[in-house]
Amino acid sequence: MRFNETLKNIKTYEAGKPIELVVREFGIDEKDIVKLASNENPYGASPKAIEAVRDMADKIYLYPDDSMYELKAALAKRFGVEREEIIIGAGSDQVLEFAARALLNEATSVLMSKITFAMYEIYAIQQGARIVRSSCYRHDLDEFYDLVQKHDPAIVHICTPNNPTGDAIDKEYLYRFLEKVKEPLVIVDGAYMEYAAYKDERKRIDPKELIERFSNVLYLGTFSKAFGLGGMRVGYGLAQKEIIQELYKLRPPFNITTLSLKAATEALEDMEFVQSSIAKNFAQMERYIAFALTMGLEFIDSYTNFITYLFPKEIPSKEVAEKLLKMGVIVRDLTGYGMNAIRITIGTPEQNTILFERLKEVLDEY
Ligand SMILES: *Cc1c(COP(=O)(O)O)cnc(C)c1O
Repeated sequence: MRFNETLKNIKTYEAGKPIELVVREFGIDEKDIVKLASNENPYGASPKAIEAVRDMADKIYLYPDDSMYELKAALAKRFGVEREEIIIGAGSDQVLEFAARALLNEATSVLMSKITFAMYEIYAIQQGARIVRSSCYRHDLDEFYDLVQKHDPAIVHICTPNNPTGDAIDKEYLYRFLEKVKEPLVIVDGAYMEYAAYKDERKRIDPKELIERFSNVLYLGTFSKAFGLGGMRVGYGLAQKEIIQELYKLRPPFNITTLSLKAATEALEDMEFVQSSIAKNFAQMERYIAFALTMGLEFIDSYTNFITYLFPKEIPSKEVAEKLLKMGVIVRDLTGYGMNAIRITIGTPEQNTILFERLKEVLDEY
């Protein structure tokens, strides 16, 4: 067989370890496992969304509504945009993939931050595009601007708040950059925007204003994080019609299931659930900050539902994550991103208490 050359350069995306794997590998009881690795909403999903999915169960023999009428209407209402400015994907990941396939090939490059969401690189490599990274883990948009001049990338990725670091940029700072950069498609990934907007008004990016002002921007949002629908795989892209039209050509039919469409539509009707989850998230975040200060750990100020703890050289994060795993606590080691750090999803109060106990136990060994 002759597989495409581009596959040689692709490492398979490593997702947060599922609970089932820890049960199997370490024989730990499911109820004793604390999963803080994938930035899911630890408070679950809106009861209204769950109820609606139950009610739809007898409809699963039918293909979904491929026009996605209801969900598009709900998104159009929430953001004040037109239906033609929306594309829905199986997670915002799928919209990223459409964008990569629409714009990238062997002759193009993609610009992204030194440390950012791993899928940007994977989709780019699948297209054979060249990766250009900034030198700083934060989004230094002055450096980004210089790199745009130098490399003329087809896509620029801006993840705000950024995963896996948790930091976010100010809206004004982003706008100043966008005013100067007109050629590439700039993808603004707002997977955690609901959190950032709650914590600091300056970080809030309004997708309607963004896409109205800048014709070369694609804004991404997801139901997997604050909305608590990670298992349903629904995300969306918002942009001017001309961009959405092109991405649509790459969409497979029925890319969202009937149940997922329903769950997302209902979840949008229950912003109270989202807001209360976010309020609890930041109340618990205070405990993570206090823990870091007590233990003398460095951390990055986070605008999300996770926090990144940085370790000194003598404490290898990979080892810490493995030790925690054996104790039934799943976190994300960032060694693969070139950081001696772990990323921890902020859990429920009970989960966090367990995390602090176990992590202290591990760190006390060094
Ligand atoms: C989680 C995440 C996404 C996409 O999640 P989906 O589940 O595919 O919608 C996109 N970008 C970032 C930065 C994320 O953390």
